[in-house]
Amino acid sequence: MYDICIIGGGVVGCAIARELSRYQLDMVLCEKGEDVGVGATKANSAIVHGGYTSKHGTLKGELSIRGNRMYDRLQEELNFGLKRTGSLVLAFSDTDRLKLDDLLANGERNGVKGLRIIGRAELEEIEPHAGPMAASALYCPETGITSPYEFCIALAENAVANGLQLRLHTEVTGIEKEGGHFKLQTLVNNPAEPETTEIEIESALIINAAGVYSDWVSSMAGDNSFSIQPRQGQYLIFRRGHGAVARHVVFQAPGPKGKGVLVSPTYWGNLIIGPNSEEISVREDLSTNQEILRGIIRTARRSIPSFDLKQLIRSYSGIRATSNTRDFIIGESSVRGFIQAAGIDSPGLTSSPAIAEMVVNLLESAGLDLEKKDSFRTERTAVITPFPLSRYSEISGDADLPEGNPERLICRCEQVREKTILEVLRRGIPIDSTDAVKRRTRAGMGYCQGKFCGPRVLRIIAAETGLPEDRIRAGGAGSGVFPERISGKELRELEP
Ligand SMILES: Cc1cc2nc3c(=O)[nH]c(=O)nc-3n(C[C@H](O)[C@H](O)[C@H](O)COP(=O)(O)OP(=O)(O)OC[C@H]3O[C@@H](n4cnc5c(N)ncnc54)[C@H](O)[C@@H]3O)c2cc1C
Repeated sequence: MYDICIIGGGVVGCAIARELSRYQLDMVLCEKGEDVGVGATKANSAIVHGGYTSKHGTLKGELSIRGNRMYDRLQEELNFGLKRTGSLVLAFSDTDRLKLDDLLANGERNGVKGLRIIGRAELEEIEPHAGPMAASALYCPETGITSPYEFCIALAENAVANGLQLRLHTEVTGIEKEGGHFKLQTLVNNPAEPETTEIEIESALIINAAGVYSDWVSSMAGDNSFSIQPRQGQYLIFRRGHGAVARHVVFQAPGPKGKGVLVSPTYWGNLIIGPNSEEISVREDLSTNQEILRGIIRTARRSIPSFDLKQLIRSYSGIRATSNTRDFIIGESSVRGFIQAAGIDSPGLTSSPAIAEMVVNLLESAGLDLEKKDSFRTERTAVITPFPLSRYSEISGDADLPEGNPERLICRCEQVREKTILEVLRRGIPIDSTDAVKRRTRAGMGYCQGKFCGPRVLRIIAAETGLPEDRIRAGGAGSGVFPERISGKELRELEP
């Protein structure tokens, strides 16, 4: 029997697992996807928020600022990628300007440092491509950008190195409490096995970090006290290098649906614009549509007019797990020993380290014996760090090197070599999809979106893991179920 079972391997579940792996506990994490970080964690704005938006007095307000400040130390230990770019909230009218005053006051109450309102002259100086109609802005130096899936992978790798048992492809389908502990029914759909199997897991405590399904998982245990309303957000992402059109994360004064459309460089130097915010009924609907994307382009051009649609590489969407309480739900439920880390919508990526800390404190005050491990390993090395791309003509011959040569170029767009693919396959987390390799190495993230490297990566996974090629998928079991995202050609013709 385990001491703790965490349900959900997004950034919240993995941050909790990493924090708890400091202690002498038998711990398992069940994730129904093929990898960690495949829910909201892989598809969001990737912002380490400054902490001025979330309302003072809420868990979001408190945990976002605390989480933000924990990132630098985590980056030193786990090497996932973080840049403190700072952010701007642009005001285009007098009404917007009043909203900046409100954000400033709220941020100061939350304890954000260095927040100030700047005028047009300073705006032009620090963000030279800002739209001409922006009259002033709220500047926050504490905002950062990160690579959310790499952060989640780093947390999980480190937790595994410290003893966590990670069960991928394992969906929790039922929970019963018996004799003071829990019995979890799980369905295991592992491509390495010929058939789906049912496995029972026993655990003294459960932590519910199931994201958009956290209300369903809670109901399984008998707590129906909240519900999740999924809200979709769509984005457009541009080629690596195009991120240089914006120096900061550039927001606009918020509207009734929240923070609104942003324009931001990514950690890897791409540019993203988005998201919208629409309630949806199907919790896994990751489709994108032209009308919404056109609206995003129109709005984003007010902030930074000079982005170039010829540089577009794809659209994507993510789903927020918004709870009916409108705040995070963290704490022991009405079912003793069943801990909620539920309803974690934005700014959940920012808050995740502080959520993990809060859950550990909660367990300790509830009487869990937390004895530190002497053997805890704090550090995790990066797979790759940003590097300037070479001129392709100078290295094109490397793509023709024979299979097995570590220097063979596997991905031409992002210039990923065979040795890097092999390295990730030999780390602690089992890999059986080309997307899992993509998130760790960037092979497939470039302009051709994996057309060249996809088959090469697949063959390397097959050779290294022994899995038959027809059992290796691009993404998880559900990938490809919803309407395909619109094509690159259609994207580049999107100008409203
Ligand atoms: C459009 C959008 C933009 C955002 N932008 C930002 C931002 O810029 N900054 C920020 O701080 N936050 C942002 N967020 C919020 C942030 O992405 C989330 O708060 C965070 O990723 C939530 O992590 P999680 O682990 O709770 O959920 P998830 O990442 O969704 O993980 C939950 C996991 O549980 C698994 N699971 C579900 N049910 C079961 C089951 N029965 N058995 C086993 N496994 C199960 C799922 O497969 C999933 O992997 C944004 C979110 C969205 C959607």
